[in-house]
Amino acid sequence: MRPIDLRSDTVTRPGAAMREAMAKAEVGDDVYGEDPTVNRLQEMAAERLGKQAALLVPSGTMANQAALRAQTQPGDAAIAGEGAHVQLYESAAAAAISGVQFTTAGRGGLFTASDVESCVYPSDSHYPRTRIVCLENTHNRSGGRVFPFDEVRAIVETASARGLALHLDGARLFNAEAATGIPAARWAEGFDSVSFCLSKGLGAPVGSLVAGSSELIGRVHRARKMLGGGMRQAGILAAAGIYALDHGVARLEQDHRNARRLADALRGADGIELLAEPETNMVLLRVADAEAFVSRAARGGVRVGAMGPKDVRAVTHLDVTSDDIDAAAEILRTAA
Ligand SMILES: *Cc1c(COP(=O)(O)O)cnc(C)c1O
Repeated sequence: MRPIDLRSDTVTRPGAAMREAMAKAEVGDDVYGEDPTVNRLQEMAAERLGKQAALLVPSGTMANQAALRAQTQPGDAAIAGEGAHVQLYESAAAAAISGVQFTTAGRGGLFTASDVESCVYPSDSHYPRTRIVCLENTHNRSGGRVFPFDEVRAIVETASARGLALHLDGARLFNAEAATGIPAARWAEGFDSVSFCLSKGLGAPVGSLVAGSSELIGRVHRARKMLGGGMRQAGILAAAGIYALDHGVARLEQDHRNARRLADALRGADGIELLAEPETNMVLLRVADAEAFVSRAARGGVRVGAMGPKDVRAVTHLDVTSDDIDAAAEILRTAA
């Protein structure tokens, strides 16, 4: 039997219709700006996020790092929430590529405008120059939590008043849109740069976008070049991205329903503690021994990820049905 893979929403494989769109894509050399399908995807993304321009990059990591590189100088400090992907999961790229160090705001990933206030260093030559605030929505490490909208507005106001730039790591921004009904463009208001991934819940094989003003995206374009992210006939990938935007966004609510279904089925199970009610497509569990639990689950046919000595993550996505969820819940209960 095919394992039910709940490690991440990145494990999805493109279906027949997406592959057909890729096969039929009109292409050109995107390093010359001549790939019509890439250009169309970039226009769609800019419009969805309410920005002037957008740029296709190979990964969410490159999106974050090119955005940081374009908006900082070596020696600057960037404010980010605890466990932010840009700080924790990108191989220290901000330090290595941009010479930037992080100041951690708040606890658990979400933070407040007053946390931002208290993270800004005095303008004295002893301190790093605080330059940018990075906010992650939904927040991955904490289990796909949605940043409270009013707090985002307050953070944007505070950061702007302090003259700080703002970057939104919206790898799963459309999950926040699906969970709240607040459009991505509203979430993105006031941010100088916004990234999102095509290759997660939206179901494309590759690709992320960075959006912002035309002037900033010009600088991000240069950073992408520097990082080796210029691609040639990338329209084949962009076609999958257009398909993902056209068909993937409306479907995310299904993933959220499946995450709640899994949480409901595991609530009260012996040896499993539900760490929080799922807000989007992730379920965080606490068990006695995460590694042992993960391998017993794998032997039973369900793949989940260890997130710490006792913590386990299950993520719903395009390639799991509600029947898969019911079967997975049964196997996870047995594995505990
Ligand atoms: C996955 C993820 C990224 C990075 O995306 P890759 O395509 O894996 O490089 C960045 N930020 C967040 C919040 C993510 O979840």
